[in-house]
Amino acid sequence: STIVDGVPAEVRERHAELSQDIDDHSYRYYMGRPTIPDADYDALMLELRGLEERYPSLRTPDSPTQKVGAPISNEFAAVEHLERMQSLDNAFDPEQLAAWANRVENEITVDAYLCELKIDGLAVDLVYEKGRLVRAATRGDGRVGEDITLNVRTIQAVPEVLDGSLQPVPDLLEVRGEVFLPGKAFEELNARLVGEGKPAFRNPRNAAAGSLRQKDPRVTATRPLSMLVHGVGAHEGVSFTHQSHAYELLAAWGLPVSDRTRVVGSLDEVRSYIDHYAEHRHDPEYEIDGVVIKVDDVSVQRRLGSTSRAPRWAIAYKYPPEEVTTRLLDIRVNV
Ligand code: NAD
Repeated sequence: STIVDGVPAEVRERHAELSQDIDDHSYRYYMGRPTIPDADYDALMLELRGLEERYPSLRTPDSPTQKVGAPISNEFAAVEHLERMQSLDNAFDPEQLAAWANRVENEITVDAYLCELKIDGLAVDLVYEKGRLVRAATRGDGRVGEDITLNVRTIQAVPEVLDGSLQPVPDLLEVRGEVFLPGKAFEELNARLVGEGKPAFRNPRNAAAGSLRQKDPRVTATRPLSMLVHGVGAHEGVSFTHQSHAYELLAAWGLPVSDRTRVVGSLDEVRSYIDHYAEHRHDPEYEIDGVVIKVDDVSVQRRLGSTSRAPRWAIAYKYPPEEVTTRLLDIRVNV
C-alpha cells in the first residue's frame, strides 16, 4: 500500500474515519442525544489512541485525542470562557492510577491528594461579578461554550448572589461544576413524560442535558436540576493555597460543594476511597462514573501544568460501566 510519512494509507484512512465518528458521537452526546453506549465510544477512542501511539504523526492538534468536548450548536449564543475548561485523563485500573501517581511524585513532592466523586452530569461554568451571577455556559470545546444563563438561573442550588457574611466576596469568580438530575427527580420526570405519551430519557445524564438545553427556560424550571461545584477558573480579589481551601470558601459563599470530598495523605488512602465508593456507588443522589483524584496544593498544580486537554495534576479513576436499569425499559426511550 502507499506509505506517506511512514503511515500506510489504510491506517490513515481508518484514523480519519474513527476521528470523524468520534467527533459525531461527541456532538450528539453533549446535546444529550448519544446514539451509542459510553463503553462503545471509549472503545473507538482506545483504537484511535492505539493508532497514534504506533504512528505519532497522526496525533495532530485537531485529533479527538487532543481536544475537549465538541464544537457548540447554534441554538444558544456563544460565550468565551475566561479560563479554558478542560477534560480529565483516565485510569481504568490500580496500575494506571499508580503510574499516574509515580509520574507526579517523580517530579514533585505531594503532601495531600483530594478524592472526589466523579459526577456523571454536565460541565457548566458560572461567572460571578462582585458576587452576582452574570453568566452560565456549557463547556463546549473548552474555549467557547453555549450561553445557558437563563436556564441555570432556574436551578435552586445555584445562588444568584454570593453570601458575603462569612467571607468577603471576590470581585470576580469563575467556578465550574456539574449539573445533574437527582435519581428520584429522574424517575418522576420519566413517569410524567410517559403519562403525557412522550418518550422517556434513558438515563439521568441525558435527562439533565435535555432539560438544561431547553430553548424555553420555563421548561427547564419544571425539571428539578441540581449542581455541585468542583473547580475554579478566573478569579480576582481572592487567592487559594489548596483546592480544599477553595472549596471551603466556595461553601462559605453559599455555592454547592460536595460533602463527600476527602483530603488524604497517601495513595493507599486514595485506593480505600475508590474501593469504598465502588461498594457504595448508589449512595449519592446523583450517578457517578468514577472518582477524581487531584493534587491539593495549588502551587504544585501550577508546577505540574496541563496538556492541551487535561491537567497533569488530576486523574479520573473510572469504574466499570454498569448496565442501565430502569423501570421504564419496556417503553419507547429518548436517548
Ligand atoms: P469525562 O466526563 O470523562 O471527564 C471530564 C469531566 O468530568 C469534566 O469536564 C468535569 O465536568 C467532570 N467531573 C465530574 N466530577 C468532577 C469532579 N469531582 N472534579 C472534576 N471534574 C469532574 O470527560 P469528557 O471529555 O467530558 O467525556 C468523556 C466521557 O464522555 C467518556 O466517559 C465517554 O464515554 C463519554 N462520551 C460518550 C459518548 C457517546 O456517544 N456515548 C460521546 C462522547 C463522550
